[in-house]
Amino acid sequence: MKAIKLGRTGLKVKSLGFGGIPIQRVSEEAAVDVVRRCYDLGLNYYDTARGYTTSEERIGKALEDVRERVILATKSHQRTAEGIKRELEISLRNLRTDYIDVYQLHNVQTEEQWSQVKAPGGALEAVEEAKEQGKINHVSVTSHSPDLAVEMIKTGLFETMMIPYNYLTTKPADELLPTCKKLNVGTIIMKPFGGGAFSNANTALKYVLSNPDCDLVIPGMMSVAELEENYGVWMGDHSLTDKERRLIERDKERLGDQFCRSCNYCQPCPQGIPISTILRTESQVLRRMGWSERRVEAVKEAKEKLETCIHCGECESRCPYNLPIQELLPRAMQSLWDLMESRTIPEP
Ligand code: SF4
Ligand code: SF4
Repeated sequence: MKAIKLGRTGLKVKSLGFGGIPIQRVSEEAAVDVVRRCYDLGLNYYDTARGYTTSEERIGKALEDVRERVILATKSHQRTAEGIKRELEISLRNLRTDYIDVYQLHNVQTEEQWSQVKAPGGALEAVEEAKEQGKINHVSVTSHSPDLAVEMIKTGLFETMMIPYNYLTTKPADELLPTCKKLNVGTIIMKPFGGGAFSNANTALKYVLSNPDCDLVIPGMMSVAELEENYGVWMGDHSLTDKERRLIERDKERLGDQFCRSCNYCQPCPQGIPISTILRTESQVLRRMGWSERRVEAVKEAKEKLETCIHCGECESRCPYNLPIQELLPRAMQSLWDLMESRTIPEP
């Protein structure tokens, strides 16, 4: 059933995996249910991270009794050996296991971070040591920078590479994904739905699944309904119809490349400004859900917060998509405010 070999890890995985970010946002019971349903459907790759609050614990709880039959992947933002040692022990405890199949350095994004992790006393030192001790089976990395990702995989240090790829973030397809194939590095695709920005999730998933350079795609899923929908797409034919190609072109025109992917890497804002809420509400939220009293209040509160921006630029230095956030925020708020006053819902 659509199983592939994940690069030189040799792991046999179903090419649809489970992305563990959204299960932080539901109850523990609902989270355990969706993970377990995923297992029951035969999917075997589960991705989480130390940084995803309760996600590791919930996946650990759901899969403890079937540990040997699943592949667990987690990651850490720590850049030092000491930090990795500390976080790895927490991950092992949370996931209720004594080994991690795929352990990833989380979002190595800049040359500075890359130098830090490979320096003496850096994260890689601890990861290699943990591998010798049998606590980690495969060493991997994630990044939002395709250029740096190419540089990193060429070192031969990593067995898989996780990168965002979708029909509006296509750069990985130019060099990174083919280079991974050539070097037998497994490719793991995150953000297939562009953080929820796209008109049709099924089309977005098919777009990724139809690229033969993508080994494994891990959409974030927080309900059984979402999981079953993705599963249905994965089981079907992945070739795009003419109608779907037209929809992709329309989304490209509508969103351009300066759209917020809702990753929240720009947080914390020292002023508590809800950056992704302001940037996404008009183009991504209203069209699907319309106005509600709660949303009106949220927009009013966001406007007040935005007025306190001290222009420190911290958000921009953290945005992996290099969005000019300080320029985009007032424009997005003005447009949103105008829509709110007339209670208009933007056209698809
Ligand atoms: S520039 Fe404004 S929005 Fe960005 S982090 Fe600073 S205060 Fe927050
Ligand atoms: S502004 Fe950038 S960092 Fe913040 S949520 Fe959007 S895409 Fe992510």
